Amino acid sequence: MLSNINFYNFMHRQILVLIALFISTATSYILIGIAYSSYIIEPLWYLFVLMLSYWGYKLYREYSDYILTLQEKEIWLKKLRYFIFSYFSSWTIMFVIYVMRDNIELHYLAIFTQLGVSVVATTILVSEKKLAIFILASSMLPVTIYLLFIGKLYAYVIAILTIVLAWVLLYGARNTYAYLQRNKFEAYHDYLTKLGNRRYFVELLKDAIKKQRNSGEFMFLLLIDLDHFKTINDTLGHDIGDKLLREVAYRMKTLAKLNHSNISRLGGDEFCLLSDTYKDKVSCLKRAQSFAQELLDSVKQTYIIDAQHLYISASIGVSIIDNPKITATTLIKEADIAMYEAKSKGRDGVILFSNELSIRVERKLEIERLLRFAIQKGEITLNYQPQVNLKDEIIGCEALVRWNNEQLKNVGPDEFIPIAEQSGIIIELGKYILEESFKTLSEWDKKGINLEQFSINISMRQMFCNTFVDDAKELCNRYLSPALSSKLIFEMTETSAAEDVSKLIEIMNKIKSCGVRFSMDDFGTGYSSLSYLRQIPIYELKIDKSFISELDNPNKEINMVKIILNIAKNLGLKVVAEGVETKTQQDFLIDEKCDILQGFYFSKPLSKDKFEEFFLKSKISSS
Ligand code: C2E
Ligand code: CA
Ligand code: CA
Repeated sequence: MLSNINFYNFMHRQILVLIALFISTATSYILIGIAYSSYIIEPLWYLFVLMLSYWGYKLYREYSDYILTLQEKEIWLKKLRYFIFSYFSSWTIMFVIYVMRDNIELHYLAIFTQLGVSVVATTILVSEKKLAIFILASSMLPVTIYLLFIGKLYAYVIAILTIVLAWVLLYGARNTYAYLQRNKFEAYHDYLTKLGNRRYFVELLKDAIKKQRNSGEFMFLLLIDLDHFKTINDTLGHDIGDKLLREVAYRMKTLAKLNHSNISRLGGDEFCLLSDTYKDKVSCLKRAQSFAQELLDSVKQTYIIDAQHLYISASIGVSIIDNPKITATTLIKEADIAMYEAKSKGRDGVILFSNELSIRVERKLEIERLLRFAIQKGEITLNYQPQVNLKDEIIGCEALVRWNNEQLKNVGPDEFIPIAEQSGIIIELGKYILEESFKTLSEWDKKGINLEQFSINISMRQMFCNTFVDDAKELCNRYLSPALSSKLIFEMTETSAAEDVSKLIEIMNKIKSCGVRFSMDDFGTGYSSLSYLRQIPIYELKIDKSFISELDNPNKEINMVKIILNIAKNLGLKVVAEGVETKTQQDFLIDEKCDILQGFYFSKPLSKDKFEEFFLKSKISSS
């Protein structure tokens, strides 16, 4: 049925051409009737042609590309075929009537018209092969029979010529038809997997939406994107990549077929599936999730390609066709949003689209868009949170980035830093933060605000950027003396650190040559092993605030803070307790000889000016 996509429109346009052609030639038959004093047959026949034209016109009006589903279009096409057949047959009636008359001129006229009809039928009906053959036979055959009945040599020759003409017409029509078919196949299919392509899928989806409008039934859409397919392409070559894609497509197609669904390849390693219909939304939703899981399981089975065992997973986004107002593009976009969510949740999973998800994604995109101009517009500032020793003296600070945007107001670093990392903005942002904090450190030094250490958060993405080492060194040289550089502590988080340890160590050592030290942030929440801790050249651990807040709960059996302090002591590392909010916590940490404390109990992160005030005030009160 889908193979007729677009041919419906084509046939629809032909109706008016046919009607115009027939009415004009039929009118000339009326004149001929008058010329030959035949006043009944021609007008009667003309009336018949008019009635047929009216039928055709009704069919023309009945058709609408926007409302009719493919099924309805197929029914419409059937009616149209009857109409066309009747129309062409009406000429054969006229032919028989005319050749039975005595005037030989009328015979010529009838033969000519019949030949004309045949040519028109084969050219106009290229997309309707069977109908064209049928009409060609029924209009040509009477001419040939007529000629044979004349019984003279010239007539036999012309009879043979009519057959040759019919054959030529057929041959031409068949070639055009095959060409059209091939063209259409190529326009709607993907050459590699032979599945439908994006264009095909969009047509299919538009039709599904119309169906939803008419029947109120539900369908779902799965957007399947292979995980890390690019790596396979890059490491094993495009040949293997192509073979893998074909295999994946084959598996999904098999499953789709079993479930009366349709799968297409939207491009690259992205596929889209449209389901069967469901009477109620709940069962549709349920099936969507179970089907997506089945599909995922099937894709994840091992592949053997060119004697290599390959494994691939996929991220699947689900959206539901539950309202007729939605457009095909929106539906694909929804599934796309859900699919991206699956990717960001660690891939190899299924996520259902929801409005909350959409709002979250919109916000993320908005943040990313506005963040690109944040530095230029001077929206990025730094706050500094004091760090104190066990005697309550301020010995250091941590620089924490702030972003105040006109439209979004204050966005927390917890929200925008991950976005900056994903989008790569962190490279520019991180460099800006380094520069601003170096300036502050140097300024404070001149003002007599002497700190033992000055901590700056460094994102892993930033650290692994190949210009990082040079940039950091260059900035150190520009703003800081070696003595000041050696006050710097770069805080890194352990979660993301695990990737390429030897590369990480290499980078850290290069940075260390400027005197910079390293701190492991949020310690205890990530995955680092003890051997990893011993391997990398760090100076300090920061106990995550979640463990510090547990100190207020005396019933806790395992005291993580004690354990971490022990580890640090054994490895010879300094310890900062972060997120200290109460006196109880402070007392405990003093008892356990934690080196440095940081938290709201002492001070919230402060602007540069406020920090200066805070520092000077505490100095006065302690002296
Ligand atoms: P983090 O490095 O763990 O920073 C400590 C966070 O805890 C800060 O949140 C700080 O305001 C907050 N905090 C400090 N004391 C307390 C306390 O007593 N109680 C509570 N509940 N919270 C406390 P902030 O400034 O929102 O930063 C959040 C995260 O954003 C940081 O966590 C860090 O991972 C990231 N971040 C902040 N600034 C930067 C930066 O300049 N560069 C990079 N790459 N990341 C940054
Ligand atoms: Ca930190
Ligand atoms: Ca932290």
